[in-house]
Amino acid sequence: MTESYVIIGDGVAGSSAAETLREERPDAEITVITDEGEALYNRILIKEYAKGKLPEAPISIHDEDWYDERDIDLRLNTLVTDIDVDADEVTTHEDETFGYDKLLLAIGGTPQQLPVDHSDAEGVHHFWTFQDARAIRESVEDAEKGVIVGAGLLGIDFAAICGAQDVEAKYLMRGNSWWRYALSEEGAEIMHDAMRERGVEPVFDSGVARFETDDDGHVTHAVDPHGESYECDFAGVAIGLDFNTEIVDDTPIETDDGIVVDEYMQTNVDNVFAAGDITEFHDVILGERAQNGAWGSAKEQGSIAAKNMVDYGSEEFRWVSSYSITHFDFPFLSFGHPTLGDDSVEATTGEGEWRRLALKDGKIVGGVLIGDLAPQSAYKQLMREERHVADQKDVLMQDGFSVDDLAAKSEQ
Ligand SMILES: Cc1cc2nc3c(=O)[nH]c(=O)nc-3n(C[C@H](O)[C@H](O)[C@H](O)COP(=O)(O)OP(=O)(O)OC[C@H]3O[C@@H](n4cnc5c(N)ncnc54)[C@H](O)[C@@H]3O)c2cc1C
Repeated sequence: MTESYVIIGDGVAGSSAAETLREERPDAEITVITDEGEALYNRILIKEYAKGKLPEAPISIHDEDWYDERDIDLRLNTLVTDIDVDADEVTTHEDETFGYDKLLLAIGGTPQQLPVDHSDAEGVHHFWTFQDARAIRESVEDAEKGVIVGAGLLGIDFAAICGAQDVEAKYLMRGNSWWRYALSEEGAEIMHDAMRERGVEPVFDSGVARFETDDDGHVTHAVDPHGESYECDFAGVAIGLDFNTEIVDDTPIETDDGIVVDEYMQTNVDNVFAAGDITEFHDVILGERAQNGAWGSAKEQGSIAAKNMVDYGSEEFRWVSSYSITHFDFPFLSFGHPTLGDDSVEATTGEGEWRRLALKDGKIVGGVLIGDLAPQSAYKQLMREERHVADQKDVLMQDGFSVDDLAAKSEQ
């Protein structure tokens, strides 16, 4: 009997799983189902499109022929509405059913809506899909004043888009600095200055309590919790993701924030796997459950899931995730889990250069580098090797740090 694999989601996790499955199983039936209207595109690059810097074409990764050539049945515009793990089948919004021997959930997340009045007004945008990017670009090109809310990695994309499109914007943040869970005020100040240079003003201890609209339902103002009102004809909201777990709610598949999997990407139901942003996976480096929201990690998880769907236990997911920001004229990199840990060390290493490492049980579990990325591979290597480094924090922060510096010190 021909084996059949069904993958829900054609983001980078689903698509890389399909590709690996085809390599591993030349004769299997492979179906990829996505509710989006286009095959895999580069989600990382859609911000460049929204900025007006890139045309549409280079953002697409696979066209439909790519799937045909590999004999992968791609179903666009198809929402899976139900999963029956007893019958081993999924049902779509058009009541079509697909039986499977193995199922992969690569279903990602959906941007959270701000729970305030008029958060769905014209001109208020959330950012996840290429369709979102098209709407953002159209809206921002006509805008003069913007408001951004959500002091994290996607919020800063909105800031860069406003900057690139000459929209004078206020970036309303809850605390006293951008991405305060990963950066100290010192590190964040470099980012604030970069935003200001692009015409985006950070506003601290703020946020959005409600939006106001004109008679046509278009946003006109964002009002913060102190009653301060900011005029805007464009608003970008990036306050986090809701993971798309509803379709497994009525199944025995374990969820927490996302779908819980082991290091082989298997859920608690033997023939159901998950990969990408949706997973809460057992992180073998961290030694606990974790989530990653990064392209490279999702791609690797898709491929690892596929290998384990074919031969369970064949390869574990062991990965240090990276996320870089290229909006400014200096580099920025976050890696691993920079918001976790029980200890940290940071240093300003030069003009506009700052770094911080997060440590857990004396080992590196993540970090952020601004301005100088030279030590990134050394830090990632130490994290991968789970080296105990807490007693050598000063060495870690040295200019020109390399792993050999640590070895030399421990031999002394
Ligand atoms: C604007 C933006 C910028 C980013 N920048 C970076 C960056 O610089 N660096 C970086 O590393 N990462 C970045 N990311 C994050 C990165 O893109 C994601 O981590 C990655 O794309 C996740 O891939 P995925 O396949 O797990 O999920 P997704 O790409 O979200 O794919 C999931 C797919 O499943 C579909 N789906 C969900 N439910 C169903 C259903 N029931 N039926 C059918 N289909 C369904 C969804 O519509 C979606 O197409 C960025 C993300 C965005 C939005």
